Amino acid sequence: MPMKIYNTLTKKKEEFIPLEKPIVKMYICGPTVYDEAHLGHGRTYVAFDLIRRYLEHRNYIVRLVMNFTDIDDKIIDRSKREGVPIEGLTNKYIRSFLKDMEKLKVKGADIYPRVSEHIDDIIEFIDILIKKGYAYVSKGGVYFHVKKFKDYGKLSNVKLDEEKIHRVEDPNKRDPADFALWKFAKPGEPSWDSPWGKGRPAWHIECSAMAIKYLGECFDIHGGGSDLIFPHHENEIAQSEAYTGKSPWVKYWIHTGFVTVDDEKMSKSLGNFVTLKEILRRYDPEVVRFFLLQRHYRSPLEYSEEGLKDTMNTLERLYNTLENIDAVLRDSEIKYKLEREDRETLNTLTDLWMKFYSAMDDDFNTPEALKYVFEVSSCINRYMTASNRPNRSTLLLARDFFKIVGEIFGIFDKYYGSSQSEDEEFKHLVDILIDIRNKLRKEKNFPLADEIRDKLKKIGIQLEDTPKGTLWKRVV
Ligand code: AMP
Ligand code: ZN
Repeated sequence: MPMKIYNTLTKKKEEFIPLEKPIVKMYICGPTVYDEAHLGHGRTYVAFDLIRRYLEHRNYIVRLVMNFTDIDDKIIDRSKREGVPIEGLTNKYIRSFLKDMEKLKVKGADIYPRVSEHIDDIIEFIDILIKKGYAYVSKGGVYFHVKKFKDYGKLSNVKLDEEKIHRVEDPNKRDPADFALWKFAKPGEPSWDSPWGKGRPAWHIECSAMAIKYLGECFDIHGGGSDLIFPHHENEIAQSEAYTGKSPWVKYWIHTGFVTVDDEKMSKSLGNFVTLKEILRRYDPEVVRFFLLQRHYRSPLEYSEEGLKDTMNTLERLYNTLENIDAVLRDSEIKYKLEREDRETLNTLTDLWMKFYSAMDDDFNTPEALKYVFEVSSCINRYMTASNRPNRSTLLLARDFFKIVGEIFGIFDKYYGSSQSEDEEFKHLVDILIDIRNKLRKEKNFPLADEIRDKLKKIGIQLEDTPKGTLWKRVV
């Protein structure tokens, strides 16, 4: 089945065909770095991480660029208020953001360009827009003349006479819909020389200039939260297509829904946010990731402690299934032969695995895909309880399925994370200890036998004496 992605540009799900298969070029708008990242940021970046991981699972080679907005009014305000130099402030929050992402197991971008390091590229970009007649110099700076770009509004559907397009009053604009590309310096603000006078880049231009510099004139995927559709991404399209003369600049536009609190967007300005650091102090990163991925990336996601706690229990149950599978696989009575009841389970598991892929292919529908993950878990648990001698291939199939799910969702690292050989060595050691303990019990040296059992329990290894022998599993 072909993979489909909902494209904000065409407002429909489209088959995903990258421009230069198997390469997928992807640009994600990064954060404005003046404060700690909150759960809403986490949602957007974890969602794009899932998309990236799934594309990689489907054998695409992803080239990812994500910018840092390190020049901005809010940054200037914060640096003045706190009396710290801008660079110190932005460096601190870039480091902090990258640490949060690492903890959340968000795979890194290939490059993280910063605005402050691309001023020359931005100046050159604006210069070409002026030469092509799309931009003009005015008293306040350089502006993009929106009326000149006939496709304006194609992403967000805004019309030039709409109220929201006129919201920034500025007497220096020719038309109210025009937007700034270069702002002339005000006293006390950071500024750079340019052919039009000292100043700094306005917001939107950075993404056009840096995306084109690193990904080329046209690329596959551009993403961000849905608050960026207008004006940010609409303006990015206008600038970029005016600059290159090529359309579409980006083939697929992907936007994430908001994390909400009481149905309102979680945001710094509303003060209703919880930082990633705070959440990660209280919950395991995998729980946070799993919580963020349980809703479809385009739907709103209401933040709640109950939601996180439920997720913690759900994840624990899945880990238990994995441990149970391993415990049974270690049982010497395991059977290689495939009988009718085993084949039935094997077929059900294969069918669920295919359904998992279909859900993921359908615009990365994680809630639907997880339905099949839970079904696999119930199915294999039922099978292990009901079967006298479970079949090895059936259990291995379930184990492999969970491994793939873990790679795509960025979970189950505590189980699959350690390297294969370390894992094997570890299993041998536990088996040796069990063997010694059983000998001690035969010699009626129960205190020492119990000591081994208790000490193993302390490091998360639980022994279970069954009529078939001693089984063990990891307890999370
Ligand atoms: P900012 O630092 O505000 O520019 O945001 C960086 C990215 O996080 C943008 O793509 C935003 O759309 C996204 N973002 C901000 N708040 C939320 C939220 N509450 N839910 C989801 N994404 C968000
Ligand atoms: Zn951007």
